[in-house]
Amino acid sequence: MTACPQCDQPLKSEPPYAGWCPSCDWNVVRAPSTGKTRFARLQTKLASFMTYGRRRRRVVEIGYPLWLVLTPQERVALLAHEMAHSSNGDGRHGLVVGSALHSLGVLRDVTRFDWQEGDGVSRLVAETFLAVLGLMELLLYRSAQRAEYRADELAARAAGTTATISLLDALITRAESVHDFLDASVVATRTDDLWTAIRSYVESLPESERERLRRAARLEELRVDRTHPPTYLRMSRLAALPYEEGRVRAPGGASGTELASPAARVAEAIREDAQSALYR
Ligand SMILES: [Zn+2]
Ligand SMILES: [Zn+2]
Repeated sequence: MTACPQCDQPLKSEPPYAGWCPSCDWNVVRAPSTGKTRFARLQTKLASFMTYGRRRRRVVEIGYPLWLVLTPQERVALLAHEMAHSSNGDGRHGLVVGSALHSLGVLRDVTRFDWQEGDGVSRLVAETFLAVLGLMELLLYRSAQRAEYRADELAARAAGTTATISLLDALITRAESVHDFLDASVVATRTDDLWTAIRSYVESLPESERERLRRAARLEELRVDRTHPPTYLRMSRLAALPYEEGRVRAPGGASGTELASPAARVAEAIREDAQSALYR
């Protein structure tokens, strides 16, 4: 067994996956390789709810690779979570709050520009704006966190806590591992169906790799200040809810086949892109 270069404890490794240290977290978080940025549009973009167009139509956007690696019941949880954001009136998406925050930000920059030492009035104005801006950001942050828990709860009511918890786990393990798979060289040289390949790659992920991805998520989420509360906290909150079964059951049978032919066309375009990127 290989020893950790940082703390000398045994590494966890399951070839071909790179080893990592469960004692000091060495090599748990990995920097993305540069070859992947080319395929940014393929990324397993987390689903998001947004309004767009002049008529502010509501749209739920879900990346196909993410959809692909979820079980039918996890898909129910994902849809319910995103729809909950729309019915919650999530603060970040609100037009009024958004523009108020924007104008305050602009004012802050303007007042700073004119700020002279000893200029009492300008200083007072600037400080007032800064205080209001800070407060609004804090309130928005809090309401975003609340909205997240609320959306999780509604997802659990619809899909059940079991499926919602495994959805959150999928977002930090299965969905993340797709990034590793989507390397230009791999995509360009494979001849089998891209989507089937992604699915079987994700299904064969060893437990040690899933464990590493969970740890990486925890370390990353602590480092980056995000509007979503850390996943492990969301999961433990969900576990305490009384909706184990949920009200909506995913339809059985071949769900998702309606996407098969556009997905095949996208896969073909991706492969051509990857090949021209490689052999240029
Ligand atoms: Zn170590
Ligand atoms: Zn959310």
